[in-house]
Amino acid sequence: APVTVTVIGLGLMGQALATAFLKAGHPTTVWNRTPAKAEDLAARGAAVAPTVGEAVLASSLIVVCLSDSAAVHDTVGPHRAELAGRTLVNLTSGTSDEARETAAWATDFAYLDGAIMAIPEVISRPEAFLLFSGAPEAFERHEETLKTLGNAVFFGEDPGLASLYDVALLGVMWGTLNAFLHGAALLGAAKVDASAFAPFANQWLSSVTGFVSAYAEQIDRGAYPAEDAALETHLATMKYLVRESAAAGIDTDWPARIQALAERAIEAGHTGAGYAGLIEVFRGQA
Ligand code: NDP
Repeated sequence: APVTVTVIGLGLMGQALATAFLKAGHPTTVWNRTPAKAEDLAARGAAVAPTVGEAVLASSLIVVCLSDSAAVHDTVGPHRAELAGRTLVNLTSGTSDEARETAAWATDFAYLDGAIMAIPEVISRPEAFLLFSGAPEAFERHEETLKTLGNAVFFGEDPGLASLYDVALLGVMWGTLNAFLHGAALLGAAKVDASAFAPFANQWLSSVTGFVSAYAEQIDRGAYPAEDAALETHLATMKYLVRESAAAGIDTDWPARIQALAERAIEAGHTGAGYAGLIEVFRGQA
């Protein structure tokens, strides 16, 4: 029979999580500080718990998704006794240290820290993926149920790893999106629409995924030979991006920062290295 699930926190994400569990046939109990947010879910078959304690007691798997770690502590903190013997899955964003602190507090029950790599409307679709770390036996026990929400990846016993992967992946997203927006501003100054630029940006990004794999291998090996292009070759072209940005009257901070990072790597003696040599700068060692 489908596992009984409790969802605590019915914000934009919590509603999507509870909806996915209900649709998959899991008997679902919900609780939210502002009770009105449970009404739609109740109409679709969710049981609404009047208190957090009752919400916890209703299921062996308790999913919490609130604004931040402080809200999680305020909400489930007083309910350690009710949590005993159950599994708490925390899908609230936070730092790896917060995850480790919560795990250390979770002595009488299993704790999984999680991060959601999806927006609410993507939950339970094939492209959704969720990151987990913490109690291995709890992940094993609840993996099938958690997969209702999307693909579930487990990073092992260190409860901080899901949060670390989360921010590292978001950093990849922000860096990529900033680069796209900068390019759109540059071409926009030449009256090119962003939608004309987008297909080329996307095509180029698929080449970049190849660079990511190749450079990961170099980073792990600790050697960054310029198999494709030397850092100096990159630097010369980076200067054009700065000059074009200045000429167009758009932001020059972003490309100047890209140039400065490459210059630091070269000054630190990574002459002749390829792009992956910049890892030393990011490690704070150059
Ligand atoms: P919302 O702002 O929509 O919802 C926040 C929820 O937290 C509400 O249920 C709110 O209750 C509750 N809450 C806040 N403070 C307290 C408190 N002190 N005590 C009890 N309840 C509290 O946020 P989201 O649902 O969008 O996000 C929730 C988490 O999911 C965040 O950590 C976010 O980073 C993460 N996430 C969100 C994504 C998204 O696309 N939305 C994507 C990936 C992760 P009330 O209704 O009473 O205000």
